[in-house]
Amino acid sequence: MEQRSKLAIVTGGGSGIGLAIAAKFVQANIRTVIIGRDEKKLRAAQQQLGTLCIPVSADLAQLNNLPALVQQIVTGHGPVNILVNNAGINMKKIFTEVTDEEFQRILLTNVTSVFALSREVVKHMLGNGGGAIINISSMAAQYGIPKVIAYTASKSAIEGMTQAMAVELSPQGIRVNCIAPGFIATDMSAKALNNDPERKQKVMMRTPMGVLGTPADIGDAALFLAGDASRYITGVVLPVDGGNSIGF
Ligand code: NDP
Repeated sequence: MEQRSKLAIVTGGGSGIGLAIAAKFVQANIRTVIIGRDEKKLRAAQQQLGTLCIPVSADLAQLNNLPALVQQIVTGHGPVNILVNNAGINMKKIFTEVTDEEFQRILLTNVTSVFALSREVVKHMLGNGGGAIINISSMAAQYGIPKVIAYTASKSAIEGMTQAMAVELSPQGIRVNCIAPGFIATDMSAKALNNDPERKQKVMMRTPMGVLGTPADIGDAALFLAGDASRYITGVVLPVDGGNSIGF
């Protein structure tokens, strides 16, 4: 019987960085489940990527639904080999105006759901010869950025969780790594930068390569960390940032 190609889950795969990761996976013949809340966006992504792309609409902040969601994917498509925890939300607001509810909402999507989804996927990976997990951080965890307190807390947590997951899961054949994208041209960064020329100038000033990144730059890094070429790499945070994290 012909062996089925690998199966990946990319959260937030309907747009921006997630869509570019899904595109690279599909080009590499990896069947790729993309998860998001907006069905229209997911359908458009599938039209663009073709039949190896499998859209699944779900709100990852509904933690109680995640075990059934993962079970549904495994039942429908077989064992999951790769999980990319890319879905995330941001909010730009001065420190004293952020409410407890807003802070919690960002932590729920960016951290708690990453933990809960990873836990469910790992349960299946353990019985299926392991896999690769890729978390997505941000420059906000590399240095202080004003007006993004909850986002910064969430991305710093992601980097800590990457290490904790890597030491616990790597002995069992699951590599866990993290990509820290620099400033990448997507809707999210447009919201943060386009009405704030001073911030944009600051970003460019400390990016040695002098340009914003593209979602495909992150897609290539994710494909590397998902595949056999990175078989001895686990627990790392890889900046893909044109040098922004080390810029003066
Ligand atoms: P986008 O806003 O374009 O994409 C975010 C994706 O996450 C969307 O597809 C959205 O889908 C999905 N998502 C958000 N909340 C949920 C939820 N509750 N359930 C399911 N899906 C959800 O942003 P980017 O592509 O820019 O960001 C992707 C990741 O990269 C994020 O983790 C972000 O923090 C990180 N990042 C981005 C940088 C940049 O410069 N753009 C820099 C550093 C990090 P839907 O709306 O359909 O639910």
